[in-house]
Amino acid sequence: MNPAKSTERGSIPVTRITLGGAPVDVLRLDLAHPVMPGNKYYKLKYNLEEARKQGFDTLLSFGGAFSNHIHALAAAGREEGFHTIGVIRGEAHTENPTLTFARSCGMHLLHISREKYAQKHKAEFLADLEKQFGRFYLIPEGGSNALAIKGCSEILFGIGNNYDSIFCPVGTGSTLAGLVATPGLCAKIFGIAVLQDMEIPDRIAALLQEFPAAHRCNYEVSFDYVFGGFARKHPVPAACARKLLADHDLRSDPVYSAKMFAGAEDMLRCGKANRHGRSLAIHTGGLQGIAGWELRYGKWL
Ligand SMILES: *Cc1c(COP(=O)(O)O)cnc(C)c1O
Repeated sequence: MNPAKSTERGSIPVTRITLGGAPVDVLRLDLAHPVMPGNKYYKLKYNLEEARKQGFDTLLSFGGAFSNHIHALAAAGREEGFHTIGVIRGEAHTENPTLTFARSCGMHLLHISREKYAQKHKAEFLADLEKQFGRFYLIPEGGSNALAIKGCSEILFGIGNNYDSIFCPVGTGSTLAGLVATPGLCAKIFGIAVLQDMEIPDRIAALLQEFPAAHRCNYEVSFDYVFGGFARKHPVPAACARKLLADHDLRSDPVYSAKMFAGAEDMLRCGKANRHGRSLAIHTGGLQGIAGWELRYGKWL
């Protein structure tokens, strides 16, 4: 296998916006790559390297029907010459843009029931998958493992120390853990949780155990901007997203980035974050998920 490395990133664009009355730079991971934008590339990068090192030619992972992770994995597999298998929560009756794209990249999709999906990390279930598909490199749901964190610790390379406060959305927390583990970073990182899972802070702390303490900067995770739960519709992030689009031609997604921007705006406005410092918000991408969200809730922006 001689992989074409078309997944590499050059320098990432930064857009200056105004948020909560303060100037904020936005790191545009949403623009970082034509078919594999966002944070998920960083989560996959060292997993792909490890898979190749171990001689795997097939990657398997799990996700929901609109998953950014499944979308990125399918694209990465195509770009880097791996077969990919996506085990999807829920039955096959819903064809949607995310899965259509994944299939167009050559990903094999296996739909399983929610009950079965809950068992997905059990040895027995994985053995069944191996019987069906042969040997594969397993990437956990959301792409979250130690190699993912190593990849995410590169997001801020070269720019992190231009800022005092850095904002990012938190799902599993591994992107945040990676930012916190950026070598030599002195900024404070504000993670904005997009779902009400109070185990997230412990999970982040556990993930960070693998990194030297000297490499961990100050951070906190806020649950004040969950806005009703994962992927729910809520007027506050929607209004923030509309304003960003109108004022700065900046598109955000309803699941992650709009909540992050709404949270950063509030923290800067009320002084929870230093409005006189230098601030960076990380746009982690996720725009591919808008189409799926709109199938449920109607027009986003
Ligand atoms: C997955 C995802 C996140 C959350 O990343 P975690 O590492 O799970 O916290 C944030 N933004 C976007 C667009 C994502 O797809």
